[in-house]
Amino acid sequence: MSRKYILVNDVGTTGTRAVIYDTDANVVGDCYTELEQIFPRPGWTEQDPLDIYDKCVEVTLGALEKAKLEASDISAMGIATQRTTSLLWDRKTGEPVYNFITWQDTRMSDVCERINRSGLFRALHLAGGAFQRLASVSGGLKRSPLGKLLITAGHFTVTPGMSSAQARWVLDNVEGAAGKAEAGDLLFGTVDTWLVWKYTRGGVHATDFSNISATGMYDPFGMRWSPLLLKPFELPGGLVFPEIRETNGYFGSTDVFGAEIPIRCVVADQQAALFGETCFEAGSVKCTNGTGTFIDMNTGDEPLASINKLTPMIAWKMDGRTTYMMEGIISSAGSSIQFLRDNLGLIEKASDSEDCSFRCDDTGGVYVVPAFTGLTAPYWDPYARGTVIGLTRGTTRDQVVRATLESIAYQCKDVVAAMELDTGIEVKDIKADGGASGNNFLLQFLADVLDTVVERPEALEATALGAAYFTGIATGQWKYPDDIVRVHRVDRRFEPRMPASTRDALYAGWKRAVDRARRWADVEPCD
Ligand code: ADP
Repeated sequence: MSRKYILVNDVGTTGTRAVIYDTDANVVGDCYTELEQIFPRPGWTEQDPLDIYDKCVEVTLGALEKAKLEASDISAMGIATQRTTSLLWDRKTGEPVYNFITWQDTRMSDVCERINRSGLFRALHLAGGAFQRLASVSGGLKRSPLGKLLITAGHFTVTPGMSSAQARWVLDNVEGAAGKAEAGDLLFGTVDTWLVWKYTRGGVHATDFSNISATGMYDPFGMRWSPLLLKPFELPGGLVFPEIRETNGYFGSTDVFGAEIPIRCVVADQQAALFGETCFEAGSVKCTNGTGTFIDMNTGDEPLASINKLTPMIAWKMDGRTTYMMEGIISSAGSSIQFLRDNLGLIEKASDSEDCSFRCDDTGGVYVVPAFTGLTAPYWDPYARGTVIGLTRGTTRDQVVRATLESIAYQCKDVVAAMELDTGIEVKDIKADGGASGNNFLLQFLADVLDTVVERPEALEATALGAAYFTGIATGQWKYPDDIVRVHRVDRRFEPRMPASTRDALYAGWKRAVDRARRWADVEPCD
């Protein structure tokens, strides 16, 4: 049998999956297993680098077995990963210096807060803020390179999730690490970089533009390591950073599975989903509804600055061309459905929320604002708290469940509206993937409140599919974009059908509800 299958490792936070695709992008075998989560102290979240590698090998062998294929049937592999989570390891022995510190870890919160309050950052915020006011009057200023930098500086803060913060902690807290870094003996890498290094038995130390852009160390406007971003954590000059390659470049080959398999794609998860949803044109948007919701807009070959504190990032680099995107994250989406199930016992399984919602005509004026940990884009209020408002004696369980699902759509509308303002692009349709996008009520309501078509692909796992597309393009199996559009399969299109007056009235109610939820925890405690 000739080599015609593509293998993908999709490494999330909760688990890792291997998927094998045929030439029409059909799944012929897949295998999933959970990854170990380590919580040494409250707020600390780590993962064992050897566990991640071993489990990736395990699921890959599992997927090959399910597909009844050998490594020699695979033409190439792609690796899509969770972002930012990073590691330092010894270049000579290959031993990790410490565990992966994940993107959710908060151990560096105090350090970050000190940096954000420092004179340098206060001056940046003042200058950026003044410029933003000017830029909101003149669109031209907003698009100049200096303007973009100033706008971004106006709200730039360091956060504990940044890879540079994680590296600083390891250097300060693991005995001997700082000395080794100075001597040039430590390699830095995110999950993708570690896996490539392991798969190539130490032969390749590289990442791609999508992953590096998520670390918070790389400036997408200047396409370079950013002195401004690296400065606050003062990483030693000897620390070895990975080479940055094109998203579907060549990352060496692995013989771990019994035959040489070239690694032809390394990509960050949300960027992979954007590609897997065929959002190839500037202005196309995907919405991944999982535990949280990640909304990403392709902004074409220009990185755009955001006045609304959305995140400009590199989407991918392919054939010498860089594509950029703008991202907004909603922290509580599918997790609010889990809350209904696990904390309130209102539903037995997440999918029950669909029937509950269809059973009632409306929420009877009830709104749920799932601000369990505050509100992210575009409100940025860490003191907001979860709120249920508008209850009457007639309110039913189904209405509360429906209001929770509706809140996911309203939050998407908030972010999309901010994106439209920032980019000047009107969003006409949205591609929705992720586990919660299996919910027909949610996607219909999303189409209604956004007044756009919402399209759902057959494969809700758009991340793995995106990595497969990149890989197949790299090997020449698929021509970009025509072949990808040909093999991409849409499950259903949800057309907007809500009258404008209803939409406006409902959304106005949401805004009032958000207003009540804001700043709730920002009070002095009572005696
Ligand atoms: P992640 O990749 O973040 O782990 P998934 O894409 O697997 O998330 O989606 C799981 C999330 O989606 C869970 O929070 C779950 O509550 C929610 N979810 C799954 N199916 C449905 C459904 N049919 N309706 C509403 N929410 C759902």
